[in-house]
Amino acid sequence: MPVIVKGEMLVKAIVFYLDSELPSEVKFLLEDFRLAVNNAIRAGLQARVTSRNALVKIAYKDFRQEHPGMYSQHLVQAFEVTCGILKNHRKRLRKGVTCRIPYVKRLMMKAENQAYKLDRTSGVIDLPIRAGCHVELRLIVGQYHRKYLDDMTLSLGSLTVLPDRVIVAFRKDAPKPYTPDSVISLDTNERSLDGVFVEGDVAKAVKAEFPEVAIIQQRHHDRRKGLQKKKAHDRRTSRNLCRREGAREHRRVEYRLHQVANSVLKFAEQRKSAIVLENLTGMRPKRSKELNRRLSLWPRRKLHQIIEYKAQWKGIPVVKVDPRNSSRTCPTCGKMQYSRMGAEFKCECGWHMDRHINASINLLQTAISKGMAGGLWFNPGAFQHDVMMILNEPAMAARSEPNGTSGVVGVT
Ligand SMILES: [Zn+2]
Repeated sequence: MPVIVKGEMLVKAIVFYLDSELPSEVKFLLEDFRLAVNNAIRAGLQARVTSRNALVKIAYKDFRQEHPGMYSQHLVQAFEVTCGILKNHRKRLRKGVTCRIPYVKRLMMKAENQAYKLDRTSGVIDLPIRAGCHVELRLIVGQYHRKYLDDMTLSLGSLTVLPDRVIVAFRKDAPKPYTPDSVISLDTNERSLDGVFVEGDVAKAVKAEFPEVAIIQQRHHDRRKGLQKKKAHDRRTSRNLCRREGAREHRRVEYRLHQVANSVLKFAEQRKSAIVLENLTGMRPKRSKELNRRLSLWPRRKLHQIIEYKAQWKGIPVVKVDPRNSSRTCPTCGKMQYSRMGAEFKCECGWHMDRHINASINLLQTAISKGMAGGLWFNPGAFQHDVMMILNEPAMAARSEPNGTSGVVGVT
């Protein structure tokens, strides 16, 4: 089969709150949209189809009759949303997860960029409801939103309308990454990114800490355990409460990960660095420490995802390398060790280094040996281990956790 290579399109979803309550016409439209999606889910499951075109073919006529007032673009978009839901449903079934027939509870609607107009100067959305009926949605525009509205290299994508806010997708072609002048290689750990920054002949240790993430995870985990025990007689309540806890945990952790990613990218952008990260995709939690591991692996993957995405948006080159043996290899003589215990890596040849930083050096060596670091190289002899550059200030990033260590401050 031929592979179709498209120029990569990047999408960034920006949330806007509304100036006033949603007009009643839009509320009705949201309800109609939800109804259409739920009906289309049933029709799709019955006819065993998941593609949008197939859905349109089997259901469009009936829907036109059931929703005579609805703008046809919105109706087609309802099929698009349905198609995504059905695909997820089928994936779950294939994995063998038992699940109920999907049903959309939340009020929402989506409109493609031809189906709405956004005045980027005034921040007013013109949303057609049906023939002859348009509604204006006034967005609250802050400094952050201005950045996206005023950047004309960004085009508008889909619009998602929710009862209390709208989400506008901004799109652009992926910029070509710059040729790096320096490189920053990072080993990803449970509480920090540790690594080296290499520029010319100079190499320094760098660190970006996020000690709060593990603490938040532990706390939410304990709380979920407590809820499960307390509500053992009521599975439904227990499940709902746990789900809410989980959502809160994700929000709080992700907020902090974004802060970490931002400081790393700011550093890289200022020094025109390439970023080297380990490829975490093959990593599986170890059985012996299963719970701890399972709790801590998703934030690291999420952090990589955020860094990669933001880097792509800004044109910062990111290199992913296989982390195998990176924590137990000596970067100067190449000897491999069996144990990876201890905070310090020591080799027979005399090389000794903080274990995490040692791993990041190995990641960098791998990237260099594969020619992925843009002709840059690393000289272990010039490594200044006594200098540690701190990339972020975790104490300032967010409300600190009461029992959390507040992180290292300043450069030593
Ligand atoms: Zn050695």
